[in-house]
Amino acid sequence: MNQVVVNPPEKVNLLDFDRRGLRDFFTQIGEKPYRAEQVMKWIYHDLEDNFENMTDVGKALRAKLTEVCYIGAPKTLLDKVATDGTHKWLLGMDSGNAIETVYIPEPTRGTLCVSSQIGCALNCSFCSTGAQGFNRNLSTAEIIGQVWVAAKQLGNVTHQNRRITNVVMMGMGEPLANFDNVVRAMHLMRDDLGFGLAAKRVTLSTAGMVPLIDQLSAQIDVSLAVSLHAANDELRTELMPINKRYPIAELLAACQRWIARKPRTSITFEYTLMKGINDQPEHARQLIKLMRKLPTCKVNLIPFNPFPGTQYQRSDANDIHDFQTRLLNAGVLTMLRRTRGDDIDAACGQLAGQVTDRTRRSADIRKRQDEGTLHAS
Ligand code: SAH
Repeated sequence: MNQVVVNPPEKVNLLDFDRRGLRDFFTQIGEKPYRAEQVMKWIYHDLEDNFENMTDVGKALRAKLTEVCYIGAPKTLLDKVATDGTHKWLLGMDSGNAIETVYIPEPTRGTLCVSSQIGCALNCSFCSTGAQGFNRNLSTAEIIGQVWVAAKQLGNVTHQNRRITNVVMMGMGEPLANFDNVVRAMHLMRDDLGFGLAAKRVTLSTAGMVPLIDQLSAQIDVSLAVSLHAANDELRTELMPINKRYPIAELLAACQRWIARKPRTSITFEYTLMKGINDQPEHARQLIKLMRKLPTCKVNLIPFNPFPGTQYQRSDANDIHDFQTRLLNAGVLTMLRRTRGDDIDAACGQLAGQVTDRTRRSADIRKRQDEGTLHAS
């Protein structure tokens, strides 16, 4: 059964349903399920949120829908555009919270980076979302609503010429920790009556929640990215506390199972390069060794993006180049992610939004900063 966000109290937000849920809802209100599909097309192809404009829906049904439900995407608080055309939206949530969504235009595609949680509970030491602490999971409506709002604001093009060609669950939060809502929202990204994106164009990135990686491959066909950042357990645990629970060997085994189930796919390993931390020749050697176990997979190198209060620095350009060359020479397909939108703090790991922290982590970080045990950048 779909989770129903009731806001205002007596009304149901249709953005909370995938196709199956929407059909069930229409049945519940005494309507034929195919009507749900008609309305779904209006919502996601025409970006329509007013039932009155749905001209092929009968007048009586339009009135009934207006009575019992609504189409409610998050509210835009801010739309910042960087000099390179990258957009960053700040979207308002309840209780003064806000999340961020980023659009990255490139010559042949447009990628939307979507958030899955208000804050994040994983506490990776190099990520500004982690430093903000955690408030709550986003609902399905709040996740798919980010795509809806961005598509609407990016402009009036037909569904076939849409500006968003790819979606990556790489914004704030750990998407697998909000499994059901994220999967439902990704069904809407993939569905022909939703945003109609192919499996290779919808990517979920995880810090490595091993059992949920298996569950994901059983439930939906999307692409997988894994945040690795270190190829030995000691360093990875220091950077990503989740590695204590699911160490590298278990993570790689899950990745091998993923590939075994989807033999034609590849997994992208994200590796953020931090000066003197994980960017030395020995680290490249460890990573090469590890990638031999997953020969069809790729590495995506991300130069570290600094944020206020961080103890890390971006690797020097020649170290980045050397690291990539070593991997390429060893036959590992390795890309270097160009930093986009950094004049508006829209780059990877810089998304902070406004998080009412329930973990007290942000207070703790501020305290350590004041005591001088954490350095400002
Ligand atoms: N929680 C998920 C989704 C976040 S994706 C995950 O961990 O995969 C965001 C990507 O940017 C992740 O690979 C993350 O590790 C990386 N990242 C986080 N902080 C960063 C920073 N300051 N600079 C560069 N990359 C960063």
